Amino acid sequence: MGALTLTNVTKSFGSTDVIKGVDLQVEHGEFCVFVGPSGCGKSTLLRMIAGLEDVTGGDVMIDGERVNDRAPAKREIAMVFQSYALYPHLDVRANMGLALKQAGVARDEIRAMTDKAAGMLSLDALMDRRPAELSGGQRQRVAIGRAIVRRPKLFLFDEPLSNLDAALRVQTRIEIARLHRELGATMVYVTHDQVEAMTLADRIVVLRAGRVEQVGAPMDLYKDPANTFVAGFIGSPQ
Ligand code: ADP
Ligand code: MG
Repeated sequence: MGALTLTNVTKSFGSTDVIKGVDLQVEHGEFCVFVGPSGCGKSTLLRMIAGLEDVTGGDVMIDGERVNDRAPAKREIAMVFQSYALYPHLDVRANMGLALKQAGVARDEIRAMTDKAAGMLSLDALMDRRPAELSGGQRQRVAIGRAIVRRPKLFLFDEPLSNLDAALRVQTRIEIARLHRELGATMVYVTHDQVEAMTLADRIVVLRAGRVEQVGAPMDLYKDPANTFVAGFIGSPQ
């Protein structure tokens, strides 16, 4: 039983078919990266896993349970967006602990969990600040910390580094890789950046116009791309 199983998942907006039948199993502890050009359906697929979009057809299973009709808050997932999505009126600690507070977790426990995540992300000195007082890189670390605090079964990232400058992008990417190792968590990560895909992924899923073009370990796709589209994306000269 995988951490995440998609079975013939489809999505249409009106008469436009955006996801055209995706089958995929992600194993526990795996770092799975969705790559593909802008508009191929990466975010839509991730949002269906998160429950932020209804599926038109097929099944989404998380940890063996069908979650098609389950609200996002009940899916035991945490999502990190490109735009951070922090609450501007709350300080870092409150942003990180909000979901736990809403779930009725005791104050002391929230404190312990936010402190632990802050330590992992070197946010200790920033806990009393509001998002406006933080740099973009710090805001994204808070968003990642907020995800960790919830101890989700599945982490979902949608182009989390896109708003960062080049140096911070590398630093944050390394941090995400380290967290994956330390937490042993299952992560599904969307990007259109080949370097991110190659360096982070255990397995890459190449999407093209709403379909899976090829799935494989980074080096396997690099050495043996199914076609020129995959080769172009993974960067192997043809
Ligand atoms: P990606 O994340 O790979 O760039 P998206 O999943 O955002 O792609 O979008 C895939 C396609 O679905 C695009 O053509 C986009 O315009 C379309 N789309 C996404 N969301 C909606 C929506 N809410 N209504 C209509 N079309 C949408
Ligand atoms: Mg997108």
